[in-house]
Amino acid sequence: MILIEARHETRNLLASHFLQEETLYPFEQERETALVTVCEGQAARGEAICPYCGVGCRLEIESERGVVMRVKGVADAPANLGGICAKGATLPQVIHTHDRLAQPQIRESRDQRHRPVTWELALETTASRFREIIAAHGPDSVAFYGSGQLDSEAVYVASKLFKGSIGTNNTDSNSRLCMAAAVAGYRSSLGADGPPPCYADIDLSDLLIVWGSNMAEAHPVTFDRIKAHRKAHPAVELIVIDPRRTQTAEAASLHVPVAPGSDISLMNAIGRLLIEHDAVDRRFVASCTRGFEEYRKFLLQSDWDGLVARAGVSAALIQTVAERIARARAWLTFYCMGLNQSTVGMWKNNSLINLHLLTGQIGKPGAGPFSLTGQPNAMGGREVGLLSHQLPGYRFVDDAQHRAEVERYWDRPAGTISHRPGLTAIEMFRALETGKLKAIWIAATNPAVSLPDLHQVRRALGKAELVVVQDAYHPTETTRLADVLLPVAQWSEKTGTSTSSERLVSQSEQVVAPPGAALPDWEILARYAQAMGYAGFSFGSGAQVWNEYIGLTSGRPCDMAGMTAARLERARHLRWPCPSEDHPGTDRLYLDRRFPTHDRRACFLPRRPQGPRETPDHEFPMILTTGRVYAHWHSLTRTGKSPKLVQRDPSAFVEVHPDDAAELGLSAGQTTELTSRRGVLRLPVRLNPGLSRGLVFVPFHWGDQYGEQTAANYLTISAIGRIAKQPEFKYCAVRLAPAVDAIREVPAFARTSRSDPPLKPTIVDTSATSKLA
Ligand code: SF4
Repeated sequence: MILIEARHETRNLLASHFLQEETLYPFEQERETALVTVCEGQAARGEAICPYCGVGCRLEIESERGVVMRVKGVADAPANLGGICAKGATLPQVIHTHDRLAQPQIRESRDQRHRPVTWELALETTASRFREIIAAHGPDSVAFYGSGQLDSEAVYVASKLFKGSIGTNNTDSNSRLCMAAAVAGYRSSLGADGPPPCYADIDLSDLLIVWGSNMAEAHPVTFDRIKAHRKAHPAVELIVIDPRRTQTAEAASLHVPVAPGSDISLMNAIGRLLIEHDAVDRRFVASCTRGFEEYRKFLLQSDWDGLVARAGVSAALIQTVAERIARARAWLTFYCMGLNQSTVGMWKNNSLINLHLLTGQIGKPGAGPFSLTGQPNAMGGREVGLLSHQLPGYRFVDDAQHRAEVERYWDRPAGTISHRPGLTAIEMFRALETGKLKAIWIAATNPAVSLPDLHQVRRALGKAELVVVQDAYHPTETTRLADVLLPVAQWSEKTGTSTSSERLVSQSEQVVAPPGAALPDWEILARYAQAMGYAGFSFGSGAQVWNEYIGLTSGRPCDMAGMTAARLERARHLRWPCPSEDHPGTDRLYLDRRFPTHDRRACFLPRRPQGPRETPDHEFPMILTTGRVYAHWHSLTRTGKSPKLVQRDPSAFVEVHPDDAAELGLSAGQTTELTSRRGVLRLPVRLNPGLSRGLVFVPFHWGDQYGEQTAANYLTISAIGRIAKQPEFKYCAVRLAPAVDAIREVPAFARTSRSDPPLKPTIVDTSATSKLA
């Protein structure tokens, strides 16, 4: 009797937190069983990897009566050593909110409201629409757009479903927006994707360079580790290369304010000085690399004055950086969006890796090029092969042998997997607008905030015949535009596996029950695949999915065959490669100085400096760059609901250099109109003397849900690189002027449908949850 009452109490407690008026419904019987099983105890404890950035902090969760109450860093976790930042620490405030999506919903037309339906109806309706579209237009008329927040189990099922069953490679991820250039850079220079070092290398390094990353705000726990290392060893140097004097740069021993978009010039200038001063590791270069002579000639024949002028810093400063690299015993470079979000992002990665090869600073403790990932499982998505040119286990769709291996493993007829690379993120939304693509399935991401050129994105989603969105929350800017909404279990509500920036593969535990009928992402996709009539999706658990997936990594560079679900549960985390169950995992790659290329050598790739796609002119004379702030993450779907985080960073703004502001007649706090060829924003001015002249900065977190004309991506350009296909978020031309008129109406072409009024700010009051503490 007591137990029954406790169950009722739990359900009422959850219902009061989870259900919106419009989605009140009786829980489905099948989910009720699971709900009660997890929540009947008064308290529970478990560990899960933080769902925000790619640092991969392991967090301990404490719950009471099915509600997450407290979170703290796990002391012996290799990624965070007990550390946690404000985003992780405030997770209890953002899980049990009243805008959780708790039941599948559909609408027949876009001028209707969504209405709750059963899983069976939602998945059958979706399957039947997909079947009609595929029958009429072929498999390449549908696409899956996922996320670095999806766990590896979900990514694997999506890949098997779309690439191995529907027969289209139109699967991509928002990792395309942050990591694609790093993937292409590692692969072309070293033979395979994957950061060679691990976080423990920080403590073994005497020179740390942070190039194009505001680590102090975007990867704070890792940056704290750098600060702690320097505090214990004051001789250790930190060089930060960034056009903005960020919080990261403030902590550096040397800040190099490279001109926006000019990283390759600076890298080539440093390389040339290293060669001229004979700071080359000749033994390593001779025995472990190829292409050095071409690279040497390329640099020595380059126009030195031109390199310095384009780099935008003095020759003396470049000389200082080169000297410090030359004398470093162990040199580690962290880099992120500042290099990757460029139409020549892959070339920037190659040019940086050239410097590590030149000095032999790779494949040894404390050294190497370390690409930071922005999301908790961006690395896992790369391993599983969600990007449109990939297959699981670092295989590629344009390789006949790779296709045949995967088809055999999936028990599919030869030829099932298409040889054509699919549409990438930006290409998908262009194809939706032109009508080439008819249906899109979006999971765990909010493209109506995060993609560049948002007016185009909204036009594209408006033209789509079918938009399916799988998310934990509703409304978001993207769920508002969906035809079908599928509720997912999120962090703390499901088990799942993810890989952090340092190749550390970790399992996360379920501690509380998901709201209502929400399911883990992998299960939604597997149920849908069965509704489509495909074989091979009758998984009984996430562990079964994982164990099937790792078989496809056997013998590959990211070999995880020894990381069975049962072993991971015991060990909690392992670094790949880990080819057998008795293998301890691999902390650092390439310690034998052999690389996964045809001749086992790494490759020097000379890259000429290339400018951004859109440069300032008389009409748009300034440069816009975008990025993150400490308190928020991505499109505020979670962090925008934490009063503590909102208090710290309440709203969007534009940072302007004081001299530029004075010339334009702008003062601090004044509203400015910021215009590019694609849109107009109205934002308050913040003065920042740490910016390069002519550069303005807008954080990309705020979307339409938090106010009109504040989303940075209404201005950004959707130009993409030729190979990595990553968009150039870090550079486009804009103009600024004091705002004198009333807010302009959003132009008609940006409207999706008649039922798509501008969204109002909805900061959720979570005080009810807090009172439970
Ligand atoms: Fe760690 Fe990043 Fe989460 Fe902060 S947001 S707790 S640094 S994983």
